[in-house]
Amino acid sequence: MPFVSDSYHSPKLALRRINRREVGVFATRAIAKGEILTISGGLVLPYRRVKAFPPSFRRFCFYIEYGYYLAPSSRRAIGLGFYVNHSCAPNAGDLRGEHALTCVALRPIRKGEEITCDYRPALNPDDTLYRPLLRFRCRCNARRCTSRIRA
Ligand SMILES: [Zn+2]
Repeated sequence: MPFVSDSYHSPKLALRRINRREVGVFATRAIAKGEILTISGGLVLPYRRVKAFPPSFRRFCFYIEYGYYLAPSSRRAIGLGFYVNHSCAPNAGDLRGEHALTCVALRPIRKGEEITCDYRPALNPDDTLYRPLLRFRCRCNARRCTSRIRA
């Protein structure tokens, strides 16, 4: 699996298949709370550009702020950070609850555990330019799972 040079990922992570249709990012070694897992680089694009992508590529795009989204810079070589799956009780994310491109461990993560982050944006109430790209039903089984995710 090739990874683009505009993104960073910890050497303690690997992409693994979960089932026939899904892949996820997994810890190959134990990770301490606060360790940087991924820093995602790519293209900064407005909604109309990411909306025009086919769904199979659009699902890698995520909201940053002020109406702009981050997309992988190549359709063939996608940074590991874009593969992190959603959980309503994530073990990784952005420490400040903003739209940072850096994903850190929110708690100690065991070897073999899947890395997850919360896709639901922590919106600035003044940001009226946000429009969700994804709608899916979550099966994370967290006590506070909201089931229907828009992100
Ligand atoms: Zn959930």
